[in-house]
Amino acid sequence: MINVIGIGQNRENMTLGALKAIEESDIIIGYKKYINQIEDLISEKEIIKKGMGDEISRAELAIEKSLEGLTVSLISSGDPGVFGMANVLYQIVSKYENVDIKVYPGVSALNYASDKLGAPLNDFAAISLSNILTPLSEIEKKLRFALEANLIVAIYNPISKTRKEPFRRFKKSVLEVKGEDALIGIVDSTYEPAKETIVKIKDLNEDIVNMSCTLIVGNDLTYVQDNKLVTPRGYVIRSDIHPLSQNHYEKFINGEIAHGPNEECEYYPCHWQGQYCDFCYCPFYPCGDSSTGGEWIKGKGVWNCTNCTWLHEKESVECLRPPLENLIEEVEDLKKNKKSLLKLRRACLLKNNPNDL
Ligand code: SF4
Repeated sequence: MINVIGIGQNRENMTLGALKAIEESDIIIGYKKYINQIEDLISEKEIIKKGMGDEISRAELAIEKSLEGLTVSLISSGDPGVFGMANVLYQIVSKYENVDIKVYPGVSALNYASDKLGAPLNDFAAISLSNILTPLSEIEKKLRFALEANLIVAIYNPISKTRKEPFRRFKKSVLEVKGEDALIGIVDSTYEPAKETIVKIKDLNEDIVNMSCTLIVGNDLTYVQDNKLVTPRGYVIRSDIHPLSQNHYEKFINGEIAHGPNEECEYYPCHWQGQYCDFCYCPFYPCGDSSTGGEWIKGKGVWNCTNCTWLHEKESVECLRPPLENLIEEVEDLKKNKKSLLKLRRACLLKNNPNDL
């Protein structure tokens, strides 16, 4: 029996199942750096430490010991199934008969990095920049597709002393697809505890990244909140409708709110000359999503929209207004249909089809 054990980013990230499997094993095999992390858990066991880059021989040895009738723990960092030892073991085990394998998940670098940085992960891709086994053109292609699909991208193996070109191509791709303000979270595990940093892609230089870093590339909605990286999912925050908003949407439903700038308004332009006023009061309030500039006033529980002007741009209004007219037949629908309204907001922000919610 071979237990493939994920010890996580560090041993605090192991599961109870993994601990039990280690306890029940006769022999422990792994890269010496990872074995050293769990030394006190395996003092009674036979231990075989191997060097870096020796994955095939570690897997072969685990199979050999298993065929001798021993229960083996094959140690992997992070999660064995994410750039870990499970893959290499399965690649060679079919040469043999009667080898049982059980994989014990661990916390992969992307989970660990994401949780250190805040809550950046929603739909995401994980891509290793190591071109030791994979052609650089393939890595670059996957990266560009992921960025263009607006996925969050977790980057493994970003750079090493001898492998700098993948990192340079990575930076170039993010700049080209996302622009210079794309947010990058860096979690550097050379520090204990690991150190997290958030930068814009234009400021991501080789001297702040090393082979022990995991990077998280934000998507088009990701924002920084109190030094944490957050990608909103669009949860509904309930609230009463303000009387001024009530009044505005009664007129809106009756077709009394003009499309475009309202230069007759005594406050026009409250943001900029040429702004559209269809949504003088925001139909999504409070969206609770800082990707367009809103934020909570701390300690007051009030959502502040002062820095959100997206709603007054011509392109936004033209995307939002026709479907929104179908979503609100009475003012109460601003509350009742809030989930759909927030999906509409998201569709227009991300330039997707607003009629296909
Ligand atoms: S104005 Fe902007 S920040 Fe405020 S609720 Fe509407 S979309 Fe959100």
